[in-house]
Amino acid sequence: MEFQSRPRSSPDTEAYWQGAREGRLLFQRCRSCGEPVFHPRPACPYCLSDKLAWEQSEGMGEIYSFTTQHLPLRQTEQAFEPRHLGIIGLDEGFHMFAEITGKAEGGLSVGRRVRVWFDDRGDGVTLPKFEVAS
Ligand SMILES: [Zn+2]
Repeated sequence: MEFQSRPRSSPDTEAYWQGAREGRLLFQRCRSCGEPVFHPRPACPYCLSDKLAWEQSEGMGEIYSFTTQHLPLRQTEQAFEPRHLGIIGLDEGFHMFAEITGKAEGGLSVGRRVRVWFDDRGDGVTLPKFEVAS
């Protein structure tokens, strides 16, 4: 079976992916308990309410944790550059896993401020990624 790296949307995630294509980082907020919810899902993980509403994040947050990938996922990837993958704590109170791109003065570290940007891969998928905020 061929390795599939293209994220697939579902009825629960389509609004998220459409938002990314429009340059908007969307998350859900529970109308019953008020908690931010990410990743997208049909019910609140805190109170099980299905009354979730979409909100737009400002896209600002800080690095909660990160690692550096030194090897490609596939041997066919030529000229692989090491990349940083991390968990970002967004200011709205949710966390997400994403790639952290670009050169950061002084290197990456936990707690550094980052902002989202949107990588249009050209195949209908736009991935939210983060870069260090200056
Ligand atoms: Zn809830």
